[in-house]
Amino acid sequence: MWEKARVRFYLEVQVFEQIFKSSNEAPMTPNQTKIQEALDPQTVACPKCHAEFVFYRSSAAHIDDYGFESYQLECPQCGTPLSGIIDPADDKLLLSQAS
Ligand SMILES: [Zn+2]
Repeated sequence: MWEKARVRFYLEVQVFEQIFKSSNEAPMTPNQTKIQEALDPQTVACPKCHAEFVFYRSSAAHIDDYGFESYQLECPQCGTPLSGIIDPADDKLLLSQAS
């Protein structure tokens, strides 16, 4: 009777350790996954000629006076200077023609 209880306790500890180990060894926490997704390249369209091109977000981006992550780029199709900010709600780049 006593032995049985001990064995059971031992097994429970093992299961607990396995759960702990596997969660500890998970390659990415949900938070890291979200950051990685946010930095994934995204397809954006030029507001002038509507050409689509791939935009790579920088992990060392410029933050403007309003706290937005902002970018200055040029349309690879028509050469229009563009300014963009990252929409904090969904991490998408919002482009407009630079004035
Ligand atoms: Zn363009």
